[in-house]
Amino acid sequence: MLKPQKLEKVLIANRGEIALRILRACKEMGIKTVAVYSTADKELMHLGLADETVCIGPAPANLSYLHIPAIIAAAEVTGATAIHPGYGFLAENADFAEQVEKSGFAFIGPKADTIRLMGDKVSAKHAMIAAGVPTVPGSDGPLPEDEETALRIGREVGYPVIIKAAGGGGGRGMRVVHREEDLIEAAKQTREEAGAWFSNPMVYLEKYLTNPRHVEVQVISDGQGNAIHLGDRDCSLQRRHQKVLEEAPAPGIDETARAEVLARCVKACVDINYRGAGTFEFLYENGRFYFIEMNTRVQVEHPVSEMVTGIDILKEMLSIAAGNKLSFTQADVNIHGHSLECRINAEDPATFMPSPGMVKHFHAPGGNGVRVDSHLYSGYKVPSNYDSLIGKLITWGSTRDEAMARMRNALDEIVVDGIKTNIPLHRDLVNDEGFCKGGVNIHYLEHKLANK
Ligand code: ADP
Repeated sequence: MLKPQKLEKVLIANRGEIALRILRACKEMGIKTVAVYSTADKELMHLGLADETVCIGPAPANLSYLHIPAIIAAAEVTGATAIHPGYGFLAENADFAEQVEKSGFAFIGPKADTIRLMGDKVSAKHAMIAAGVPTVPGSDGPLPEDEETALRIGREVGYPVIIKAAGGGGGRGMRVVHREEDLIEAAKQTREEAGAWFSNPMVYLEKYLTNPRHVEVQVISDGQGNAIHLGDRDCSLQRRHQKVLEEAPAPGIDETARAEVLARCVKACVDINYRGAGTFEFLYENGRFYFIEMNTRVQVEHPVSEMVTGIDILKEMLSIAAGNKLSFTQADVNIHGHSLECRINAEDPATFMPSPGMVKHFHAPGGNGVRVDSHLYSGYKVPSNYDSLIGKLITWGSTRDEAMARMRNALDEIVVDGIKTNIPLHRDLVNDEGFCKGGVNIHYLEHKLANK
């Protein structure tokens, strides 16, 4: 057997909990690490654990974590051989991936062309239709500016519809339209927003599913013809299209539909010669799956899939980027038990306003089946410049009830003093009757919050 290839030195082009997660995986594999940081981030935990650190610029992300020349220069001066983008920032920026590879580094993710294909939701949908993955019915391609044609498409699809930016992400650039008379104005507004936010005014139209669940499929593919799935996750608990609490596997899914969609995702990976870890996101309604988009990167909620499969997604990404084939087959993937993840944010639990500042005291919970992915420590100051995610609390149990009981314990034990967090919201959620039953839809959390 060939000896597996290994990356020598990985530059981690991210911050916070995911930077620490990547660093831990590198260290386990004996890979050297370079941590980059902005001047607002000198106190990040993983800087003290990395082999080398490089300051790449001031606090605003566009001058540091999004500043491609600074990151490439940091890789050059430190002799890094590969770059891991994490999630957010440059993770789905095809130009970045291209420049990384042109500069002679391995990009730990898909090829730039794949990112480009999937980053445009219209071309992504086309690729999925070609691969036989079920999608939400809608405009075949962009929604034309010609009013009559747009109105005809809206009528054919049937109201309510949702207008979405082709280049959108992060839950922004979407507008639901309930009545035909509102379509043209909504399309115009969404186009304007899309142009401003994503530098791409193209929008498309989809049937607005009224009560779907958000169910997604984790895949890993080596770009050498081998692809596998790691089962599904349910991320239906959302606020403003942002995920709050996730779990794997998705409870109460029709087994025939599940088997079919998992197989289709694997086939799609092979069809597009996908390389790395990725996620196919679906809406699930009345026993059917509808593709909405693919994320070509590691996701925040990847740990729940790791917990139920025992597979380390980060290590597999690093191995594939070194040129190895997948280190296991589909037959090696067994879904065992259940896992939950609470996203802990530095924010007011009632108003959701960010709450940066000094963490006076942090106590991490523990016990059987409890995992904490967080860069917090007592005395750490959460900067105001970035995303409010300060950690993820993950539990595993042999059943969903056991994972839930462990999460209740963990949420009782965790202490984050000095700043406001959404921990009270999570305590409420893991005791919520509807959520405990399983299978709530994407509106459940917002309805619950509105009724408070
Ligand atoms: P983003 O890339 O911004 O996250 P997505 O396409 O993944 O955008 O959609 C985010 C969320 O918006 C979904 O999880 C779902 O809650 C809602 N959504 C998107 N498309 C539809 C649709 N066709 N019908 C109903 N809800 C939708």
